Amino acid sequence: MTVFSLSPEAAAPRLSVARRTLERLRTVPALAARYPDHLGAESLDRLAELPPLAKNDLNTALAHLEPAAERSATWLFQSGGSTGAPKVGYAPTGFYMTGVHAHWQPLDRTDLFVNAWGAGRMWGAHFLAAALADLSGCRIIALGSVAKEEYGDWLGFLGARRATAIGGTPSVLRLWFAHARAAGIELPSLRKVLWLGEAWQAQLEEDLAVVAPQARRWGMFGSTETWVVGTNTPHCPADVFHPLPDQLVHADADGLLDFTTLNPEMLNPVLRYRTGDAGELARCRCGRPEPAMRVLGRRDSVVQVRGLGLDVDELIARAEREPGVARAQVVLTEQGGRAATVELLVLSTGAGTAPDVERLRKELFTATFTLSTAFQHDPGSFRVRPVDELVSNGRTGKTAALVRREES
Ligand SMILES: [Zn+2]
Repeated sequence: MTVFSLSPEAAAPRLSVARRTLERLRTVPALAARYPDHLGAESLDRLAELPPLAKNDLNTALAHLEPAAERSATWLFQSGGSTGAPKVGYAPTGFYMTGVHAHWQPLDRTDLFVNAWGAGRMWGAHFLAAALADLSGCRIIALGSVAKEEYGDWLGFLGARRATAIGGTPSVLRLWFAHARAAGIELPSLRKVLWLGEAWQAQLEEDLAVVAPQARRWGMFGSTETWVVGTNTPHCPADVFHPLPDQLVHADADGLLDFTTLNPEMLNPVLRYRTGDAGELARCRCGRPEPAMRVLGRRDSVVQVRGLGLDVDELIARAEREPGVARAQVVLTEQGGRAATVELLVLSTGAGTAPDVERLRKELFTATFTLSTAFQHDPGSFRVRPVDELVSNGRTGKTAALVRREES
C-alpha cells in the first residue's frame, strides 16, 4: 500500500528541507523532548518514525520561532478558529502560489475572475486566490463576502460583465448559486468555479447545471498551516487531490493524513503535520499515474462552519468553566449543506445562581473567531440556550458533544 505521495527517489533531493524543519523544531523548548537525537529525516522511512504534529504543537512552535520571510513581507493569518486569541500562521507575499501555478492553471488571460473569498479578518484564502489570478494574467474582480440582501444586485452585475470564473468556499458558493437559481438569474459565461476551504457540495452541481451549465469545478486542498497541498481538475473526483511535488503527503496506519513541507521558502515548520483530515493515497480516475490523496473528512472535534473550523470540544470546555453550567452541547443546524445556526445548549447545575446566558453568548461570540467571522453578517445565528436536558441519542443513550441537524 502506498503511504507517501512521493517515491523515495523523488523525495530524496528535497528532504533537506524536512531535516532543516526538524532542527528548527528542536530549538523550541516545549517540543525539544519529542525529537531526541536518534530521530532523523534523511529518508521517508525515517520521516515516518517522527511524531506527528498537532495544531497546538505547531502554534507553540510558531510562537517561539516567529518566522520571517527573507525576500518579502511576512503575512500573519488566522490559523484555525479556536477560542481565545486567534492562532497565527505565517506566509510570505505570494503565498507559495508560484509553485501551485506551475502545476495547475485553471485561469488564463481571457478570464474575468470573481474572487468571492472573504478578505480581511486575517483570513488567507482571498489573498492566495488573488496571487494565483495575478500569475494567470486574467482580469480580477475582488468582491469578498457580501450580505444576503446584496446577492441579487451583484449577480446582475457579474452577469452583465460576463464573468467567466468565480472562487470561494463551497458553502458561500452555494449561497451565490442557490440565490441565482431562485431568482432565475443565469450566468452562461461562467466556465470555472474555484474552491478551497471545505468539502465540495453535491447540491452545487445541481444549482450550477441550471445557473451556469458551462461551469466546471477546480479544487484546492490546504490549510493556513500547510498552504495549498494539492489541486484537482474537472476530470478528478471532488474529494481527490493531486499533491504538489513540494508537499509530501503521508497516510498513517490509522487513516489520518499528515503533511510535510519540502518547499525551502515555507515559513511554518510543517513536519508530519496533521490537519485532522482522514484520507488515503490512491490513483485518480483522471489518469495521472502518481498517487493522489482522497480526503475522507475530519476525525477530530473540528467541524466546518461556513468554511471555518469550529473546535466543538474547546467551545464546550469554555462554556463548562462558567459558574452554574453543568454541561454544554453544540447543535449545528444546516440548510442546504451550509451552517444556518450554531446553538450552545447549557444545562444548569441547579445550585447557586443560574448561568447568565446572554453574557456567555456575547463572550463566546467575541472570543471565538470562527463564530464572529462566520456569522459576521448574522450574529443572531449563534445562540446560547438554557435547557433542562441535552439532546441524546435514544438508541444508544449517548449524549454527543455535537448534534447536527438538517433543515429544509
Ligand atoms: Zn485527478
